Amino acid sequence: MSYIETDLIHAGKTFNASRAVVPPIYQTATYFAEANPEDYLKTATEPRHPYFYHRHGNPVSSQTAELLAKLEGTEAALLTATGMAAISTAVLSVVKAGDHVVAQQSHYSAASILLKELLPQFGVEVSFFDQTDNTSLDAVIRPNTSLIYLETPSNPNLAITDLAYVGASARSRGITTICDNTFASPINQRPADFDIDIVVHSATKYLGGHSDLTAGVICGSQEAVNLAWKKLLSLGGALAPFDAWLLLRGLRTLSLRVKQINANALALAEWFQVHPLIKRVLYCGLPSHPQHQLAKQQMNGFTGMLCIEVDGKDEQEQFVRAQTVLNHLQVFANAASLGEVESLAVHPASMWGLHHSPEQKLKAGINDGMLRISVGIEHIEDLITDFEQGLAQI
Ligand SMILES: *Cc1c(COP(=O)(O)O)cnc(C)c1O
Repeated sequence: MSYIETDLIHAGKTFNASRAVVPPIYQTATYFAEANPEDYLKTATEPRHPYFYHRHGNPVSSQTAELLAKLEGTEAALLTATGMAAISTAVLSVVKAGDHVVAQQSHYSAASILLKELLPQFGVEVSFFDQTDNTSLDAVIRPNTSLIYLETPSNPNLAITDLAYVGASARSRGITTICDNTFASPINQRPADFDIDIVVHSATKYLGGHSDLTAGVICGSQEAVNLAWKKLLSLGGALAPFDAWLLLRGLRTLSLRVKQINANALALAEWFQVHPLIKRVLYCGLPSHPQHQLAKQQMNGFTGMLCIEVDGKDEQEQFVRAQTVLNHLQVFANAASLGEVESLAVHPASMWGLHHSPEQKLKAGINDGMLRISVGIEHIEDLITDFEQGLAQI
């Protein structure tokens, strides 16, 4: 099958050995051994075998992983218990003591901690580059660089990394690349099409899409995914059987959801752009986004993620006003996470302000009046009306 919409419904079916149209949940830790010891040895050692022991594999995980590999255009995929389990397992399957890693200045917060604190504890040095400036990447690469770690669009400031440039540059030097594709989803962007080696996701977000599970996925070549699987056996982050089943169920509607979310987000961003109380809108689908051209080159749609900056005479007033708007929203839920069917909004300065100095906030692209919005699949008129009445409170 060649179209994503069809793959979403049918890919991976061969792993469903039952006659049930929807696969049963294999809520079991272990499986009966084959009688023949040689067969059992094969089962025990084959990567991701679905019928040995749960940390090794599970039939529904195999079905879901095959679908995700199809979506990302890679040979294989491995499910994990959370997005961070996917990121840490993938990174640790590539680097070893003495290696050098290059990463962006801005990443998902727990990934930043992995890069800035955990890797250096194990003798891996990490350098950071400005993802909006390709020459800054070349400046930090060293002979022992083994990994370039990317995220685009990135959290929280929706900056775009030039995937084709990084992919080609890394391939020519034999450096492995990993890209966190959570914000885009494979409907909007496929990093493997730009020679990125490994694609990771927090499947908690768009892939699952219903705020009812945490999961992660690592997509790549058979070899890369098998190496990650070996690390996962030791790190232990296998995805629970029921959550793999929920993820498969959520994925059925991924394309429908993402298309609706893209359309809602663009309409909302355009509405914000002419609102007198909004100082700035950051949405990579708007021509006013500094990297809109690059986004158009590598993305098929521009996601449901946008940031607005509420206007005010100074930072203090912006901070209070952003909180006032947020507190009065009735359709948008004030909750962390993103990429779900329901619209969500957060005030990054309240969430992270206490942990960040003013310089760190500036560097991370957070300012006091900023609201980060994850648009859902509600009717656009209700989303606009909600912000209209929220902004009327200030
Ligand atoms: C949420 C998120 C993660 C972490 O995923 P969990 O499922 O919460 O572990 C990683 N990267 C990005 C971009 C995210 O949004």
